[in-house]
Amino acid sequence: MSERSVISVVDSVRILEGGGFPVRRPFPTQRLMQVDPFLLLDHLGPVTWGPGEGIGAPDHPHRGFETVTYLLSGGFQHKDSAGHAGKLAPGDVQWMTAGSGVVHSELPSDEFMRNGGVMHGFQIWVNLPARDKMIKPHYQEIPGTEIPQAISADGKVKVRVIAGESLGLSAVIKTRTPITFLHFTIQPGGELEQAVPAGYSALVYQISGEVQAGKEQKLVCEGQMARLGDGDVVRLAVASSDATLPADLLLLAGQPLNEPVARYGPFVMNTREEIEQAFGDYQSGHMGHIAS
Ligand code: MN
Repeated sequence: MSERSVISVVDSVRILEGGGFPVRRPFPTQRLMQVDPFLLLDHLGPVTWGPGEGIGAPDHPHRGFETVTYLLSGGFQHKDSAGHAGKLAPGDVQWMTAGSGVVHSELPSDEFMRNGGVMHGFQIWVNLPARDKMIKPHYQEIPGTEIPQAISADGKVKVRVIAGESLGLSAVIKTRTPITFLHFTIQPGGELEQAVPAGYSALVYQISGEVQAGKEQKLVCEGQMARLGDGDVVRLAVASSDATLPADLLLLAGQPLNEPVARYGPFVMNTREEIEQAFGDYQSGHMGHIAS
């Protein structure tokens, strides 16, 4: 077994996305375009909206990759050009394979707009290999109650297994290429070693609290992302001596595609010609419209 090191700790940039909601984004930035196969990591909020104030992302297209939405607090509703619609509650995951293209809207739920509240969650973009970029759009919508959840023997580590495997549990979500997506909550004094196959890209994103990550036990704070070097196991710990709060974090890992990336806004393909084709198909209505 070889333990992975932290090779860099990246601060998120704070920006407004969609119709103007605040996100923290460790990538893509000018300095780091992707962590192959991951194209984007957006930490939405937590942001408190009053009644009628919630902001989402009105009608927009995607082609060539997958969008994964994981909600921690609040409520979202989505609709697409194929007539698909659904809702997301806290704990729920929507894994949308955009493939050849959808036009969709991602908006605060009617109930959230009525009552206001705290919106908090994630959107992660997972690239599709060239062979899958034009497949038929597909959804996996998993309620929080069906996301496998395990607690360590000492009770100090909780994991929600969104993709991949942890603490003896396997995810219910199926991925097109090997992906690990775990949400850990580690109490002070808790630690774990998570297997991550050698050769996978891997990162830790700190949602709240602080964690000591990797072989050198490097400190990672809220809103920071640690990129991990190669190896087959990742050590995560929260020292009881200096932490009073649990650490909440995501561990993402995946087999890199090692393919050319041509990206422009909501389209991620392999060549510039394919991006132009995507724009043409969107503008001529080939990705459809959302029925009102
Ligand atoms: Mn979208």
